[in-house]
Amino acid sequence: MSRIIVLDQNMVNMIAAGEVIERPASVVKELIENSIDAGATKITIAVEDGGRKLISVTDNGCGMDTEDLACAFESHTTSKVRTSDDLRAISTLGFRGEALASVASVAQVRAVSRTADELAGNCVEIDCGEKVSVSPTSADVGTTIAVRDIFYKLPARRKFLKTANTEMTHVTEQVTRIALGNTAIELALSHNGKNVFHLAGGQSIPSRIAELFSPEIADGLLETESNEKGLHILAYLGRPAIATTSSRLQYIFLNGRFIRDKFISHAVKEAYRGSIDPSRFPAAFLFIEMPCEDYDVNVHPTKVEVRFYNSNLVHSQILACIREKLLGTDLDTSARIPQQTISTSGRDSRIVEAMEDFFKRHRPAGQRQLDFKPGAGRESPGRIEHTGPAQAPEPVGRNFLQIHDSFIIAEDEAGFAIIDQHALHERIIYEQLLKRVHNSKLESQKLLVPQSFGLTKSQLDTIENNAELLEKLGIELVGFGPKTIAIQAFPVLLSGAEPVEFLRDLIDMLTEKASTLDADGLLDEVLHMAACKAAIKAGHKLTNGEIEQLLADKQQVEHSSHCPHGRPTTIKFTIAELEKQFKRT
Ligand code: ADP
Ligand code: MG
Repeated sequence: MSRIIVLDQNMVNMIAAGEVIERPASVVKELIENSIDAGATKITIAVEDGGRKLISVTDNGCGMDTEDLACAFESHTTSKVRTSDDLRAISTLGFRGEALASVASVAQVRAVSRTADELAGNCVEIDCGEKVSVSPTSADVGTTIAVRDIFYKLPARRKFLKTANTEMTHVTEQVTRIALGNTAIELALSHNGKNVFHLAGGQSIPSRIAELFSPEIADGLLETESNEKGLHILAYLGRPAIATTSSRLQYIFLNGRFIRDKFISHAVKEAYRGSIDPSRFPAAFLFIEMPCEDYDVNVHPTKVEVRFYNSNLVHSQILACIREKLLGTDLDTSARIPQQTISTSGRDSRIVEAMEDFFKRHRPAGQRQLDFKPGAGRESPGRIEHTGPAQAPEPVGRNFLQIHDSFIIAEDEAGFAIIDQHALHERIIYEQLLKRVHNSKLESQKLLVPQSFGLTKSQLDTIENNAELLEKLGIELVGFGPKTIAIQAFPVLLSGAEPVEFLRDLIDMLTEKASTLDADGLLDEVLHMAACKAAIKAGHKLTNGEIEQLLADKQQVEHSSHCPHGRPTTIKFTIAELEKQFKRT
């Protein structure tokens, strides 16, 4: 007897449902997408028990007539594609004609629909693939599909459903994605009869982001747009300060469809490189529009991934668009002063008055050459020198003060900034290193006396394996015996670092990271380390000339608002904010 049989259609649908319908949120996604494809301008989603008990989606779209309603829940029935040509340029969210059949094979479904041409509507009920005939009913134009007790005849799948709260989190996430990609549509979501959100149709993207996430996230977003080579990009970018430890604030839409794409995520990460810690993820909302012929959406069961025919173009355009915006923006962190930490007591107002007085009295100092060699301070610390021409007009924002030998307070047009001297100097050195290393190799200087140190065999191997990199850094080494090596020349830019200590740490780092990073990644790690070691430390008293040079360099280097690890270098305070806090306004 043969062992192979042809599965009946309901079995086929149940198997297909395994791919498309993972959990209640998948049903919500499929039903809303159908409503959007039907031209709805208002969609209401009611969920009970995280969708385990009920998911009901009502729309005011085109509806289905008797015939269409009768066959919509059969497998491979669709009104969206007809020929293979249509598959090459899909402009609707759905096209495979399997979602409703899949949903109806794993739950109790009741659909009511009416077209504008009909006086009454029709209703159809299906219980896990078993259809009861279509009957007339009164209804508004549009469609309501109610899905009850998902997986109730499939205990193995039902038991994998999580708690109502967890399932609702997934449902809310799906609706959020659709809401962001379709701002023209009015959307209401409720859970167990309680409103989760009700979004007006025609909202701006930032208003939607404010309602779906928070006004704090929406307020600081940087908007940018580019339109080149058939690719329209609209981006709302989060400032580094709101970067998170996961990519949960990254949303990418392609012609209104939420997608995940590793090329695009990479482009976003690259664009923010140097502005945030590499382990964090920036908030970014990207809306990409391009001809449907330029990508294939038929490559993933839930269509959350697509295949771009020219992914390099997509990558480079997005990278350029975001990077240009970030580079052109002052990303300094603004101080947020909590209400309760500032009182209007005499002591606090005296501090502010003293600071105001300080800024009034101290006039700009002239530029000086910076020398960060340890112990090279020139002049008595902490004094502000009046070296500028006495009668010269006063340039704005040149008053400064070092506090605790670690932070610099510098006046600017709107108020003042507090600068972390180590973090800022680290960024400056990093950018200088990066520039020089990419152009050629670092300039080095011979040490007066070569500095020798002992090594193990494996450390020597590491040096040999990374000879090219060491040369690029401008580090010259000579053997000094079987297990001793001497540093002959050391990079000028790293004069703030102690050569032997630097070399030892470098070798440790190369031993640890060389196997996991490619050449560029390794070089970047080395430059991070070098910048950190060579930068002035917290606790180091600076001369006024050094402070001036730091402030001048801050204007010149890219990403000066954050250190190479992504921590802020600068926190800004506005006088307006201070006046508010001190109840002067
Ligand atoms: P697809 O969306 O891939 O076409 P579905 O199984 O999701 O497949 O839906 C089958 C068909 O049912 C759709 O092509 C559409 O014609 C119709 N349909 C489904 N939902 C709606 C709706 N809310 N309003 C109008 N028509 C709908
Ligand atoms: Mg569909």
